[in-house]
Amino acid sequence: MPELPQMQALAERLTASLGGRTLERADLLGFASLKTAAPAPDTLAGTTVERADRRGKYLLLVLAGGARVAIHLSQGGRMDLEEPPKQTRPRGALVRVVFGPEPARALLLREHGTQRKAGWWVLAPGDQGPLATLGPEPFSEEFADLVRTDRTGRRVYTWLRDQHVVAGVGRGYTDDALNRARLSPFATMASLDGEARTRLVDSVRGVLTDGLAIERGRTGALSEGKLGERFAVHGKVGQPCPQCGQPLRRVSFDSYELAYCTCQTGGKPLADRRLSRLLR
Ligand SMILES: [Zn+2]
Repeated sequence: MPELPQMQALAERLTASLGGRTLERADLLGFASLKTAAPAPDTLAGTTVERADRRGKYLLLVLAGGARVAIHLSQGGRMDLEEPPKQTRPRGALVRVVFGPEPARALLLREHGTQRKAGWWVLAPGDQGPLATLGPEPFSEEFADLVRTDRTGRRVYTWLRDQHVVAGVGRGYTDDALNRARLSPFATMASLDGEARTRLVDSVRGVLTDGLAIERGRTGALSEGKLGERFAVHGKVGQPCPQCGQPLRRVSFDSYELAYCTCQTGGKPLADRRLSRLLR
């Protein structure tokens, strides 16, 4: 799933490509993807795009007058920038938003693979919609304070990925950040000492900063089928740990896995639930 670096760099590219243009129309191609009943997309016709922005993993098209279009790509959502706009209706297509003046451009939102979870929202001025429940951004002082003060029994792996705690971090950068901080994914927030908390903040910000630098080299929208090739640890089970060189290990869950190294866990392998279930 695209996380903060992918969406931030995408917002920057879309600002360059669509900023100052006029939203002409939104052609609905997959009905379940529109998550708001009002305002209707038709009411946006003729408004100027001020810029694209990001909050958490949401991309925002900010329109003159204060209305916004929010887009969440979820697991399999992808975006194509079409110059000129196409008339086709590709498999998994959800909406095509066309921008003038001539030569027109379009943004096509679609789903890659079998997932049907990407969505978009038309937000009236002031309406926060799905953004209302998001936690702070990782580079905010509020996030650093939360890391310094949270004493819950929640596991740091779960806590970091919770969008109500901190917005924009998912499985990929969580694996990378915890490895860089040399923290066990299963450590509880309550168990972290002051030094570990500082390392955690620095590592989260560090992997996101590095990720953003890489993502800024991307061109076009965000159309590649696979987006996860750019991590240091996530998805790299069996390859050498960037910290110590030992092979990275996995813990499997029903539909995904996390990657870690025993240099994060005091030398102890974590129980792989799938493996232990098979052995039982
Ligand atoms: Zn290691």
